[in-house]
Amino acid sequence: MRPADKLRKLLGDDYVITGWPDILPYTRDYIVTRIHSELDEEVDDGFIVAIPGDEEEIMGILRIAREEGLGVAIYAGGSNVVGRYMPRKRIVIDLSRLCSIEWHDEESGIVAVGAGAIIGELEDWLNRRGWTTGLIPQSISVATVGGLIAMGGIGMYSSGYGGVEDILLGLEAVIPAVGHVRIGPSPRRNLPLPPERLFTSSEGLIGIVTKAYLQAYPAPETRIRRGLLLQSFEEGVERLRRIAHYRARPDMIRLLDEVETQVTFGVDGAALIYEIHGPAEMEDYVEARAEALERLVGRASEIEGVERWFEERYRYMAHLKRLYRAGIAVETMEFSPLWSGATKLYRGMREALLEMDGVIGVSAHIGHIHPAGCGIYFTVLIERDRLGDIYHHMWRRAVTLAARYGGISHHHGVGMVRKPYLELEYDGWVEAVERVATALDPDGLLRP
Ligand SMILES: Cc1cc2nc3c(=O)[nH]c(=O)nc-3n(C[C@H](O)[C@H](O)[C@H](O)COP(=O)(O)OP(=O)(O)OC[C@H]3O[C@@H](n4cnc5c(N)ncnc54)[C@H](O)[C@@H]3O)c2cc1C
Repeated sequence: MRPADKLRKLLGDDYVITGWPDILPYTRDYIVTRIHSELDEEVDDGFIVAIPGDEEEIMGILRIAREEGLGVAIYAGGSNVVGRYMPRKRIVIDLSRLCSIEWHDEESGIVAVGAGAIIGELEDWLNRRGWTTGLIPQSISVATVGGLIAMGGIGMYSSGYGGVEDILLGLEAVIPAVGHVRIGPSPRRNLPLPPERLFTSSEGLIGIVTKAYLQAYPAPETRIRRGLLLQSFEEGVERLRRIAHYRARPDMIRLLDEVETQVTFGVDGAALIYEIHGPAEMEDYVEARAEALERLVGRASEIEGVERWFEERYRYMAHLKRLYRAGIAVETMEFSPLWSGATKLYRGMREALLEMDGVIGVSAHIGHIHPAGCGIYFTVLIERDRLGDIYHHMWRRAVTLAARYGGISHHHGVGMVRKPYLELEYDGWVEAVERVATALDPDGLLRP
């Protein structure tokens, strides 16, 4: 029996997809080179999409992959921007049927959610009940819960609610060498190799997350949103550092460099936007937090148009299309510099990329602050026709520079793009990861 027929027998005809053009959506993610050349990609006959409904079926798919010598790629929301592992002969597991959402324990604020559920759907479900996870990535309408766990994702409200690692309390998964595992939620894990840590940022290497137990919080009933105008990005970085060190973090904070401030608000300087949340009966508490924060920021004038910025944040596709039509490709790169290296990285990156032939613009913002440093996010505008020539060269320059000042990624993950540079940050650790992955997936079904 052919592999596709074995899969049909396991899952039913409706849950196996083969053949062009039905497989087309599964061939893509948001890595910029693929968006710009997806129709040139050669898609071979060995490409089968399987859509399992539970862990048993996932284990059946892995068994068939093993028998047939096929690799397995996981397709969740397809929104990752660093390139997924795509073996040439493969089964692509689409997790969209694993999308249930229910309270695990409402009193403790714990929601049990299928890994294939879209983040936006989870938020709608929670918001209708007066709750939120506070995990709001810009890709909210496409990214899934499992995808965010696997890529170590983070949302714009990270200052208040943290990244996915801070709300992941337990999970279920299928590990090729072990089968179905369930680790129930706990407020703090005290166990060797805690599974939440092991699977966060695992990029699908050690198993397939099928369900997550996530912390939810009462949705904010009152909020303050403000924008302040600072002299320069450098000054803003220093302010962010003080806010982080004095633990005066708002629920959302973002510092735009001079380029992004000019494009967004039409003024000179660097915009610092923040938002603070609280319950209805505690407006004075929210106001007091804003006051404390502004005292740390120091002298600054207020910017107009901040509400509009919040509203337009998710309309990125229209901007991308406009630029694309004008012959411009947009790449984004995020890094984790320590505070001591943040401005050096910013200046160095602009210099290193802008001197490249084909790069026509570099801007940055900081959207995530941590005690020791921040997540800085560069947007690079490239002549569309030059993208193929300079893409890998540009990444090599950028990652090499970032490694000097801190971490080589912040929340987009490693993928195929950063894989060649892992040794820059992780001395000897890559081998350790490979050994763990080999132990949990001895046939290498999930591994590049
Ligand atoms: C416009 C735009 C804005 C974005 N904004 C943000 C942002 O604000 N914050 C942020 O963190 N990211 C952001 N991203 C990146 C992207 O949304 C994240 O990387 C996201 O986590 C990918 O999730 P996905 O469900 O789309 O996964 P996919 O792209 O389908 O898969 C990504 C990887 O995760 C693995 N994987 C997926 N599901 C599972 C699972 N259940 N078990 C094991 N492995 C799995 C896959 O094997 C693959 O390697 C953005 C992307 C775009 C295009």
